Amino acid sequence: MSLKIYNTATRRKEDFAPQNPPVVTMYNCGPTVYDYFHVGNARNFVVVDVIRRFLEYAGYRVKFVQNFTDIDDKIIRRAAETGEPWNELAERFIEAYFENADALGIRRADVHPRATEHIPHMLALVEKLVAHGLAYVRRGDVYFRVRAFRDYGSLSGRNLDDLKEGARVEVDEDKEDPLDFALWKAAKPGEPSWPSPWGPGRPGWHIECSAMSMEHLGETLDIHSGGADLIFPHHENECAQSCGVSGKPLARYWLHNGFLTINESKMSKSLGNFFTINEVLAKFPAAAVRYFLLSAHYRHPLDYSDAALEEAQAAIGRIREAVLTAEKILRLVDAGLAPPTAHGVESVAQFEAAFLEAMNDDFNTQRAAGVIFEAVSALNEKRIALAQNGKDTGLAAEVLGLVNLIRRLLSILGLEELIFESGEASEDALLCDNLLDLLVRTRGRARDLKQFALADFIRDELAQMGIRLQDHPSGTIWIRD
Ligand code: AMP
Ligand code: ZN
Repeated sequence: MSLKIYNTATRRKEDFAPQNPPVVTMYNCGPTVYDYFHVGNARNFVVVDVIRRFLEYAGYRVKFVQNFTDIDDKIIRRAAETGEPWNELAERFIEAYFENADALGIRRADVHPRATEHIPHMLALVEKLVAHGLAYVRRGDVYFRVRAFRDYGSLSGRNLDDLKEGARVEVDEDKEDPLDFALWKAAKPGEPSWPSPWGPGRPGWHIECSAMSMEHLGETLDIHSGGADLIFPHHENECAQSCGVSGKPLARYWLHNGFLTINESKMSKSLGNFFTINEVLAKFPAAAVRYFLLSAHYRHPLDYSDAALEEAQAAIGRIREAVLTAEKILRLVDAGLAPPTAHGVESVAQFEAAFLEAMNDDFNTQRAAGVIFEAVSALNEKRIALAQNGKDTGLAAEVLGLVNLIRRLLSILGLEELIFESGEASEDALLCDNLLDLLVRTRGRARDLKQFALADFIRDELAQMGIRLQDHPSGTIWIRD
């Protein structure tokens, strides 16, 4: 089955056909850097990271661009509040973005352009729009003339007359039509500004993304993404500006993630109902947070709660335990692996096909995670059988096949590194594992010395803690129940 993507522009699932395969160009609207990002923002970054990883796994060469909006009303306002220069504030939160994104296993984009580095490109676009009659100048401001662009409203499925009802004109605006939006804003006293043909000023938010995406990915890119709140007006305006200059669509596929909610309402900075990633990572491991963010289809709402995060943490624990125990048994039986059996190869292929089918269906990570759990159950059965019969090399090969499969599928979701790599928390886990190994060996020594009461004491005390010992002809291993 080939990849299908739900395209906001057509409101249906379409076969994915990039412009120049195997290259896929992707642009995701990045953060406005005036604060730490919250779990809602993280949903967008994680979802897009998984899409990028999956496309690479499917054989595409992805060029991925995600910008930083580093000049904007919110940045200027926050800088005025903190007394910090606006550009230092932006720089500080760009660093914080990378730190948090790295912690969640979000790979860095190929390019992270900053709006302030693309002012000349924005000016060139605005000049062309003015020349095409799609924009006009009013006392140093430049506005996009919405009614002059035929397709306005087509991305978001809105009608201009309905829009006009809701449109508001700010006091200091001087527009021909309330629907028109700013491309360039004349400088206000004390605000950062750049020279332009219309006097000093700064860019509007929407033109920033048009300029950065076209500069790095050309006039038409393959996948443009963002949260559903960006469909209107941000993406509608980006479309109008870019197409108004090039005459071509800005993107072939528009992809929007649903909201992360909290008590059923959208998590947002303005409502104050948010948790920053730092706050969440202080309570839960990164693997659990990432798994939680992928536990619903990306277009559906997902509700944040401690209970949901605890569930995610338990799920991650089950995967980790299954894989690590199986690897331990494989080392112990040391059966000298035989070539995989036909049955083993087929079962791995079936799980992989089911995972692919889920991801090919508009990146259904919820179903894909379900497939990983089916593979984990199969692994648990096989490794228990292997622990009982360490000489069965065919079985050992099947266990190894499943372990490798599960690790490979986890890495497409960006979870493998987070679950298995040793961070600070897993260093503790490693120490704990080593101590358990030591107790198991101590019990073995006690038995060798015929001190059976001591050996049984160790076994029973470990059982009380939920650690079960399994004796095999080749040695003893411990398993967490
Ligand atoms: P911002 O920095 O506000 O532009 O947000 C960065 C990204 O996070 C954008 O793609 C937003 O659409 C997205 N976003 C913001 N809030 C949420 C939320 N509650 N759930 C999902 N995505 C969100
Ligand atoms: Zn944008």
